[in-house]
Amino acid sequence: MAAPAVRTSGKTQTEPQEAWQASGDEPREALVVQTSFLGDAVLTTPLIAELAMRGPVDVVLTPASAPLLANNPAIRHLFIYDKRADAAGLMGLWQTSMRLRGRRAAPPAPARRERRATRIAYLAQGSVRSATLALLAGCEERVGFATSPGRLLYTTRVTFRDDRHHAERLWRLGFPSQPGIEPPEGSLQPRLYPSVADTLAVDSLLAGTSDDRPLVALAPGSAWGTKRWPFYADLARRLAPRARIAIIGGAGDTDLGKEIAESARSAVPRKHAAQSVIDATGRLSLLGSADLIGRASALVTNDSSPSHLASAMGTRTITIFGPTVPEFGFGPLARRSKPAGLDGLPCRPCHHHGPDRCPLGHWRCMRDLDAERVEALLTSILD
Ligand code: SF4
Repeated sequence: MAAPAVRTSGKTQTEPQEAWQASGDEPREALVVQTSFLGDAVLTTPLIAELAMRGPVDVVLTPASAPLLANNPAIRHLFIYDKRADAAGLMGLWQTSMRLRGRRAAPPAPARRERRATRIAYLAQGSVRSATLALLAGCEERVGFATSPGRLLYTTRVTFRDDRHHAERLWRLGFPSQPGIEPPEGSLQPRLYPSVADTLAVDSLLAGTSDDRPLVALAPGSAWGTKRWPFYADLARRLAPRARIAIIGGAGDTDLGKEIAESARSAVPRKHAAQSVIDATGRLSLLGSADLIGRASALVTNDSSPSHLASAMGTRTITIFGPTVPEFGFGPLARRSKPAGLDGLPCRPCHHHGPDRCPLGHWRCMRDLDAERVEALLTSILD
């Protein structure tokens, strides 16, 4: 029987877990540990999709990231590891690992019940704590990057390729014995699965706002202070006469969202203001935000998780890099996307994530990148 079709990132695909059940090969049970940031969780989905072709996949995520990977048909069990609160410390590590060990199960096909699959951990997050978690959870094999702090606990170490996108680095964990392999077309596409409720929430936000103008999403937030480009309000005012603006962000971004929305509304006749500007900050789930980004013609964002949501949803993106650079491996993946950044600044890049304050005080990597320049880039990908 044909595998059921599911909706993913606006495309139709085949459920991957059907593949290993039909293959006749020995199933290989995978445990993917990814307790880094939201964007890293999104960039792990190509690895998860690949592993799901070989056997059941369980995934360990933080409480913040877990909702983002909900509904993913490649994942059998999704475990939350709250390493900074409920499951902090050695006792939390032990209890979580026992929970993972207890949920290990034989594959569901009746003919295979007597066979126990090898369980392989893929350490997408490289700490000693994650490696210990996999060891205690009973993973006979543990695969991770040769540069990770937890590498002494790995059974297989994979080269960390500085010259590749992070989605590809993570995907390569699935091919430890094939260092020369190149990813097939489409295999690095991240995947997210907004639920019906997420889609309905976006429908409700956009109700009455549709017209002929393109919808441009702006995501002005970031966990790191120096990554927050300061000219979104200026950009929104410039764009508003020719585009509908949707501002995306979490509950902590609502003040910023209000300021940007007011700036955009000031540039259009009052009677058109409501249908020209949608302030969605604090009003959508993570997957709801992904759904909204998926409906936009383009996204402008910092080097932060919304850039990766757009990669999953196939939305062309201008990703603004200040203290970081695309060469770190976290650039936008959707077609026709472009990075924006100030070339020729000797202090740039200054930090792998982006410090909270500019160590030199002037913050020129962002202050000298004005709205006019970003607008020109955006226009080039919209045309
Ligand atoms: S030191 Fe340079 S790159 Fe780093 S935040 Fe300051 S201006 Fe930006």
